[in-house]
Amino acid sequence: MASEQIENYLKQIYNLQSDEGRVSTSSLSKTLDVTPASVSEMVKKLADEGSLTHTPYKGVALTGEGELLALRIIRKHRLWEMFLFNVLHFKLEEIHREAERFEHIMSDTMEEKIDEVLGRPTIDPHGHPIPTRDGVMRHVAGLRLTDAAEGATMRVLRVNDADAELLQYMTSIGIALHMTIVVKQKMNFDNSMRVAIDGRDVNISSTIAASVIVEHA
Ligand SMILES: [Zn+2]
Repeated sequence: MASEQIENYLKQIYNLQSDEGRVSTSSLSKTLDVTPASVSEMVKKLADEGSLTHTPYKGVALTGEGELLALRIIRKHRLWEMFLFNVLHFKLEEIHREAERFEHIMSDTMEEKIDEVLGRPTIDPHGHPIPTRDGVMRHVAGLRLTDAAEGATMRVLRVNDADAELLQYMTSIGIALHMTIVVKQKMNFDNSMRVAIDGRDVNISSTIAASVIVEHA
């Protein structure tokens, strides 16, 4: 059985795990915005169900089974984002919030239909990989735009999906997936930079530059 709450825990643990290895219960409490007591309760439940292992003072780690459940929900989320963006023409900054709700109620049949209609996409509109049905996620490396060298020509691989306001702003200045960005000048005093997007010069803050993952074009 997988309630919405359980699915959110598994997904969050998966994400934190990819960033920082073993996940502490305190970072779970922080990112899910729930009390440490309810985290402990849920962690115990998930351990009993075989979705994760918990080592006191070391944190939690998903089991193979738990990881598969997390990847299923991430797949539904990203497919639904793709459907909202490509077929229903939602704005880039709107789709993540919609998908946060729909991922929990999407049936496997619906998932298959959407995948088929979309032509079996491998990335979502933010550039994040869509795991396969049997839980294979293809990770594509890349670097933050902040770390690109002055003079470099970079291509946008993915953007941060969680901050709607930031995404809206990025779209308004022309930053989009697969776009080419030329780093013209790096301001070392505040890590902002001047870049050329589609031939236009734009100054972007370090927050924006850190949210854009790029590769050499
Ligand atoms: Zn999303």
